[in-house]
Amino acid sequence: MLKLENVSKYYYSSSSVTCALRKINLQLNIGEFVTITGESGSGKTTLLNILSGLDSYEDGEMYYYDKKTSFFDAEDWENYRKNEIAFIFQNYNLIDSFTVLENVIVPYIIEGFSYKEAKIKAKETLKLVGLENDYHKKATKLSGGQKQRLSIARALAKETNIIVADEPTGNLDIENGKAILELLKKLSKDKLVIVVSHNLSQIEPYITRKIRLHDGEIVLDEVVEQVDNIKVDNISKNEVNKYKQAFNFSLLNLKSQPKKTILVLLLTLICVLSSFVFYANFKANIDDNKTKELETDFFLNFDDTRLIVRNVSGEELTNERINEANVKYVKSVEKYDYITDVNYYRLGDYKWILGGGFGEPDPVTGEVPFFDSSSITLVDNTKFMRSAYSLNESDLLEGRLPTGRFEMVVYSDDPSIIGTKEVVLFLNRNSWGEDAYLKYTVEIVGILKERTKQAYFSDDLCMVMQFSQLKVSISINYFDKNGRLKALIYNKVGILQTENGYAFTTNKSKFQFIANNAAAIPAQSITYNISHDVGKDEASINCENYHEVCIDGVMLSYDYFIKIYNKYCVNDQFTIFIEDYCYTDDVMKELVDLNFDSLSCFRASVSGYDITKVIVRYANLVISLVALFLMNLIIVFIGLSILKVKKNDYVIFKMIGVTNKLIKKINIFELVFYCLISNIVLVITYIIVKNKRIIDTV
Ligand code: ADP
Ligand code: MG
Repeated sequence: MLKLENVSKYYYSSSSVTCALRKINLQLNIGEFVTITGESGSGKTTLLNILSGLDSYEDGEMYYYDKKTSFFDAEDWENYRKNEIAFIFQNYNLIDSFTVLENVIVPYIIEGFSYKEAKIKAKETLKLVGLENDYHKKATKLSGGQKQRLSIARALAKETNIIVADEPTGNLDIENGKAILELLKKLSKDKLVIVVSHNLSQIEPYITRKIRLHDGEIVLDEVVEQVDNIKVDNISKNEVNKYKQAFNFSLLNLKSQPKKTILVLLLTLICVLSSFVFYANFKANIDDNKTKELETDFFLNFDDTRLIVRNVSGEELTNERINEANVKYVKSVEKYDYITDVNYYRLGDYKWILGGGFGEPDPVTGEVPFFDSSSITLVDNTKFMRSAYSLNESDLLEGRLPTGRFEMVVYSDDPSIIGTKEVVLFLNRNSWGEDAYLKYTVEIVGILKERTKQAYFSDDLCMVMQFSQLKVSISINYFDKNGRLKALIYNKVGILQTENGYAFTTNKSKFQFIANNAAAIPAQSITYNISHDVGKDEASINCENYHEVCIDGVMLSYDYFIKIYNKYCVNDQFTIFIEDYCYTDDVMKELVDLNFDSLSCFRASVSGYDITKVIVRYANLVISLVALFLMNLIIVFIGLSILKVKKNDYVIFKMIGVTNKLIKKINIFELVFYCLISNIVLVITYIIVKNKRIIDTV
């Protein structure tokens, strides 16, 4: 099956040329047990290397089943080594970082067995060479004899036609040496076994043919025992799934050095995590709007995720049309745009300062019996109204969505707050002035799943607030005691909370005055008109005077409110909240395609640059970029050093039949493993951090 014709091999060095083999002619067949002897330096190893495709030759021709091997390319040689040759090396060539068991698992994985199957088979093979008690020893920890037996076990694991052994019994005692030779003899029945040996007398009883080399030439080629020429075909190998094979291999690699695997994993993790942080920092600093000064004249709520949206045509919006704006990266849609500029204050969001004659809030209900603006300090003006429009039942943990006007849903750890009522103050500094607010008692009807500070109010109440942001003012004309015409103008329009026990009856009046100076308004029939830049509404009405000092506004009955609401309120814009400021341009572009006009409240609120912020921004950009670069450099460095460490292993892998392609796949699998784990950890960390941030802000 193997035939050498005039094969010569030279080793070239800078100063000399060594002729290791000289015109070798040789034919070897299946069934033979051949020994090659000769003094040191006579070319035995060189001949073995050429026969097993580990080394090239310069002259002559080697035939493999009549095929000229001088035409073999690298892949042909890889396949030849993989499918035909099991090599027992003189210097063992074990994989030092692997255990005994793992060293023998390798050839089984090359054969295409799964990691599990390979492990079982490897154990059986190790029993044959008497290493069954050393499965988990590292290869480096073995004695010379044990290493020899391990390298034999590894060769036995390969199902090949040719077994090549370089001094296989050199390091074994007589007993063990004999056992190994007997094993090889048994195998040689349907294989070609070629053994280099110093000890001819030991091996003599087993061989069928002896070859002697001297100075690179065959000086003796004697057939000791005639063997029948057995016809054996190339061992037909099943098509192995290369990816499965690479997967099993990388599994073996990762398992073989758990400490190293964990260390590399940690390093990749740190790099990936910090890259993520630096990337986020970079992204956050890309937009220079963040370095501008903010003006609150326009929007009170200049949240950078808030966009105001209108139809390009200016047409009134239907609910369907509003929902169309719920594009990618949009977190929620707020139908009542103006209310997102209305601050609300729940108990705890304002400080109660005891003033003359005013009672304290009821500790149980939080109900404030009576107070004026001087006794209240509003401390949190970062909370803005939201309507329950954007919610549905699935957002609730318990209770229901607000249906009645004075109802809301909130987040709370304590579900028993459902059904309780709170005094909530509403204020819009831009529209009503600093201290003017509307006060309502609002019932909590549901608990949100999401941990949030945000309260969501009923559509009805939001409509009222929406209306009071319109530049509709109500002026009331009346005659005072002396018959002089007086006028009161209110630009803050609320709706009466009749069930709250105020002295007011709906059948008697259509609206109610609430003024700082109650005495100024007589309880008599007066005329009023509602003035507005688009129209005028006049009527005469019998009105009851209502006095609540704190609120300088006018309260209307519901029926009357609806009447003027329908007259003046055009639903022509709404707000959307996006997931993050960085999506602003993406979302705006999307909206343009849908025929919407949009405006970023944040961008509309920024003006000139704030020089310190500009400096911080550039510093951040530079730091992020440099850090990102360094992190990636480290990742590349880690990758390279892994490959470097493995290079020695890979040389051995190749000798025992691992192809270059497979090595590439193994590397990719390991890389994927590290990246996958790192990224999974990253995602989990992200979720935890995000939740933590939400918890912190509750
Ligand atoms: P053996 O195994 O019989 O001791 P080798 O096949 O190892 O002999 O070596 C045969 C000859 O080739 C020796 O003269 C040796 O010095 C030379 N030789 C072997 N390998 C190399 C090499 N890689 N580079 C240069 N010379 C080599
Ligand atoms: Mg040698």
